[in-house]
Amino acid sequence: MPGFADRLNGIGISASAAMTDKATALKAEGLKIISLSSGEPDFPTPEHAVEAAVDAARGGDTKYPPQAGKPALKKAIQAKFLRDNSLDYALDEILVANGAKQIIYDAMMATINPGDEVVLPTPYWISYADIARLGGAEIVQVPCPAASNFRLSAADLDAAITPRTKWLVLNFPNNPTGACCSRKDMEEIAAVMLKHEHVWIMTDDIYEHLVYDDFNFCTLAEVEPRLKDRVLTVNGVSKAYAMTGWRVGFCGGPRDLIAVMNNMQGQSTSGINTLAQAAAIAALEGPQDFLRERAAEYQTRRDIVVSLLNEIPGVECHTPQGAFYVYPDISACIGKVTPEGRQIKTDADFVMALLEEKQVATVQGAAYGMSPFFRISYATSVETLREGCQRIAEFVQSLK
Ligand code: PLP
Repeated sequence: MPGFADRLNGIGISASAAMTDKATALKAEGLKIISLSSGEPDFPTPEHAVEAAVDAARGGDTKYPPQAGKPALKKAIQAKFLRDNSLDYALDEILVANGAKQIIYDAMMATINPGDEVVLPTPYWISYADIARLGGAEIVQVPCPAASNFRLSAADLDAAITPRTKWLVLNFPNNPTGACCSRKDMEEIAAVMLKHEHVWIMTDDIYEHLVYDDFNFCTLAEVEPRLKDRVLTVNGVSKAYAMTGWRVGFCGGPRDLIAVMNNMQGQSTSGINTLAQAAAIAALEGPQDFLRERAAEYQTRRDIVVSLLNEIPGVECHTPQGAFYVYPDISACIGKVTPEGRQIKTDADFVMALLEEKQVATVQGAAYGMSPFFRISYATSVETLREGCQRIAEFVQSLK
């Protein structure tokens, strides 16, 4: 067989996608799987966004789009950045892509040279690491320990930056921990980054609207305007507006960076589905009140999951202030054996045994760079969450 590219060595299907696929296969065999692995809102896409796409299709908006995004969508994004983040981007400082994921891909591919380093506060969303490695970069982890609520310490960040650092990626609210970054913490991070002028900074704000307990979200370019010419502010409609399948992400950033990212995009996709862009305009310009209502619903689910998990001896669960994940510590389960004789040596063993013996799909902490933990997504019904936590409790209590 003809060979494959070396750059793909070590790059596989993401752990959460692998777990979702395995759960789907078990479901097809007739098992009742409780799926807590997928990072996808269970709410529907707002009706006005769906209607805008239908109108666009019927109105003949079906030709190649402008590569960097339709002007009307870029204007809606410009207004969103002003409204939500007090950030003023010109239209040529904005790029639309097929999801925030493609923004991240375009940015890294357009900037990374082999041997560069990408600094990732850890645990981190796996795609940052895989995309950076595809570009030939090395990953530098900065642990954000559970004991400090998965916060990034400015001093640890400072120590991780070297002359080879190309990017720092910030993602608060965080996937997989739900950790948020207060304005004070962000100011300390900004003070560090002002010193390191050779580093680009990506802030992945995709969970911006999913914050709880009256947490005030902030983003780096707003907190420290002197960094704005090195910051790429990334966002999208997937999580807040429950539009994962529409594949619309966007960013604001320095004009020259946006231009090279647009060149990357030109050779991969030629732009974004016109109907999805119409839907995204409607989502960004339409009513925003339901975002708070949905966040309140997620907060209720978070409270239920955190309290049910903390009732289980052997599981320790923090209370995150954002996103829709918890990342419980399962140190006490490592070294034990399941009723069916499976050895739990790692968090990967834990989640696989939990799926096979109790039919609950979650994701191992190893996939996010910090063990022994596992990630639960609470973007699902309260009934499913109660059943899932009940099965996790039975599983953990059965370990010997
Ligand atoms: N960034 C983070 C932190 C995510 O968790 C995800 C999806 O899971 C994405 C980006 C991808 O967003 P999109 O659907 O816009 O590509």
